[in-house]
Amino acid sequence: MFGAATEVTPKFVSPSDPAARWTGAHGGQAFFAYSTNYLVDIENAIIVDVEATTAIRQAEVLAAKRMIERSLERFDLYPSRLLGDSGYGSAEMLAWLVYEHGIEPHVTVFDKSACTDGIFSRDDFTYDHAGDIYRCPGGKILTTTGTLVNDDATMLYLASNRDCDRCALKPRCCPKQASRRVPRSIYEGARDMARQIARSWEGGTSRRFRKKIEMLFAHLKRILKLDRLRLRGPNGARDEFIL
Ligand code: SF4
Repeated sequence: MFGAATEVTPKFVSPSDPAARWTGAHGGQAFFAYSTNYLVDIENAIIVDVEATTAIRQAEVLAAKRMIERSLERFDLYPSRLLGDSGYGSAEMLAWLVYEHGIEPHVTVFDKSACTDGIFSRDDFTYDHAGDIYRCPGGKILTTTGTLVNDDATMLYLASNRDCDRCALKPRCCPKQASRRVPRSIYEGARDMARQIARSWEGGTSRRFRKKIEMLFAHLKRILKLDRLRLRGPNGARDEFIL
């Protein structure tokens, strides 16, 4: 299967190459494109695998999974860590790396939980792994019944109405609700691990290493002139990217 599913209908479809995607993701004038994805052995500067995909962000995750599994099958290469930007930082992808493959996620976590309106964000609540509870900025406890919501991937932790009623911080916490609720993904453990790595010395080194990957893309465009493909269709894109 090629590419990845998306509900977004492209503005234009190319009559001569319908699988190419109309995209303006690079910030300039939009055009029909494919994306190339690399799996790179950073320490030895070797491109281990290449995967052509539709030019949409969701396809990167599928490509990364395919390349990691293929390198394992073909070359018996088992990475101890994966470096990547927030495109690979969804809860589901991080859980796949950590729980299914034991790979350390040196990946920027994709997180939309931060509030910009002055209301406490989830980061202001402290999770206690041992007790499986959150502690709020007011020092009270939020508990969960364990019921899964949102595609069976999220648990809600609730403060008690009595605590919130009397709390001086309520206007900054849950001004429109009786009490505060904090959602937690069932994959949050993997996200916490990625956040912890990002704050560590190793995480800082990985971020510097990631710049080497960008050099490859620059090399492709400027020296190999691959900013324009000569062959059409997904197979044409794949052949050119592999070459
Ligand atoms: S409003 Fe409730 S959850 Fe928020 S800080 Fe006060 S007691 Fe804690």
